[in-house]
Amino acid sequence: MKYCRLCGRRLKDPESIKIGIGPVCLDKLVTEIKRKNMKAEKVEDLQIPGQMELSEFMEG
Ligand SMILES: [Zn+2]
Repeated sequence: MKYCRLCGRRLKDPESIKIGIGPVCLDKLVTEIKRKNMKAEKVEDLQIPGQMELSEFMEG
């Protein structure tokens, strides 16, 4: 069983488990990134699992 690394909730969604962050926290994270107008290469600073492709979210 995996848990969200941000809030500690259990993750049920395979996609969420894969990245280690729940959908709610992921949404917050993406919002935060957009708000700060950060670039994809800075995403690592937010302690996001390496396999995560946050750049997808930022292009929207
Ligand atoms: Zn969470």
